[in-house]
Amino acid sequence: MNKDNFCVVPWIHLNTEPNGRVKPCCAYLGEEFGNLKNDTLEEIWNNHYMKSMRSSFLKNEIPNGCSTCTKKESSGGVSYRMAAARATAAWAAARAAVAREAAVTTAGAAWAAARAAARVTAARAEEVRAAAASAAAVTTAGAAWMAARSAARSAAARV
Ligand code: SF4
Repeated sequence: MNKDNFCVVPWIHLNTEPNGRVKPCCAYLGEEFGNLKNDTLEEIWNNHYMKSMRSSFLKNEIPNGCSTCTKKESSGGVSYRMAAARATAAWAAARAAVAREAAVTTAGAAWAAARAAARVTAARAEEVRAAAASAAAVTTAGAAWMAARSAARSAAARV
């Protein structure tokens, strides 16, 4: 595993299975974090399993159930953790590019709104990164990421 073991997945993602089992991602090999037969997604999103995993990554520790990614990276492959990090960065870059394009091609209200939303999204992403420096971020960072994603979707819908 790389020196920087941080994984963004538990802040942006949950994986659900047809039998109701919920895990942080499809690559995770540990126990389920909840089951939709008994819990809501909202309850699972910030339950003690999710908080514990976020705390581990904030301390640069790798949860035991993440061996799919550690093995992949040890063999020189691209893990889901790495792909998620790249996708998140690419998403932020794409939104910034949309904002720049809007500035040079049109002054339409929709483009202006998209640009403004992209800026808000980027600002929120920065807030999340700052919040992630604290162990207290295990719950609030999740909510902030949800808000950032929602803002991005709203911007996309307006374009
Ligand atoms: S390190 Fe891999 S297995 Fe663990 S949460 Fe991240 S993507 Fe999932």
